[in-house]
Amino acid sequence: MRKACFLSSLALLVLSTPALATWREASTEKFIVYSDGSEKDLVEFTERVDKFDQVLRVITGFKGEPSPVKVRIYLVDKEQTVRELYPWHIPNIAGFYHASISGGIGVAERTRAFRAGQLDGETVLCHEYVHHFMAQYFPYVYPHWYQEGVAELFANTEFLKNGHIRVGVSAKYRMWDLFNSAWIGTGRLMQDTGESSGPNLEAFYAQSWATRTLVLRESGARSAASAVPADAQPRGGSRYGTAEGLRLNR
Ligand SMILES: [Zn+2]
Repeated sequence: MRKACFLSSLALLVLSTPALATWREASTEKFIVYSDGSEKDLVEFTERVDKFDQVLRVITGFKGEPSPVKVRIYLVDKEQTVRELYPWHIPNIAGFYHASISGGIGVAERTRAFRAGQLDGETVLCHEYVHHFMAQYFPYVYPHWYQEGVAELFANTEFLKNGHIRVGVSAKYRMWDLFNSAWIGTGRLMQDTGESSGPNLEAFYAQSWATRTLVLRESGARSAASAVPADAQPRGGSRYGTAEGLRLNR
């Protein structure tokens, strides 16, 4: 678990459109966030997501310029709205991310988790943003378990009121599957390419998160916090960076 504290100089622009009076927009250098909720919640969310990007930059050591194409995020009022916007309209979806050549778009239910073990839309967005960040700035080939484990590890970041940031908080919503679902052997987990984990998807995510967290904590080295394995191979394209990248997100 890592703590970091830094100052953030955000310049938030909050606009409301007369014709759509309930929708507001807040923007930073990297994000444009729209919400029909309160201005306060919108500003606080935008500050958090911008800080989350900075957390990933600190952890990975990435010092390059941000992409000129901002990620657009829509915060909606309830899970039903997320489902209606998601192309396959599946139930129990708190958020999703869509990548296209015109940039990334995230949609999430803005209500935060109100009990332990609940997965909320903001955590889903952070998970997806880790994928986006890695594809954007570290376009290598990753094992499936590693890719999902890293996304789960960093998605569980807490922004404390004293300004500190806690990275690697336990993903409590994975605990049930970790203890109750059929165990996936380590060999199978490591070799999974995305197809074989289908029936055991929840267990796959839980074990990928647990394995990546264990590796990080056991190594104790700063390099272990990197999003990129030492033997990662470059790849020509990214499913998160191309129009092929329509991706549900968990
Ligand atoms: Zn993922």
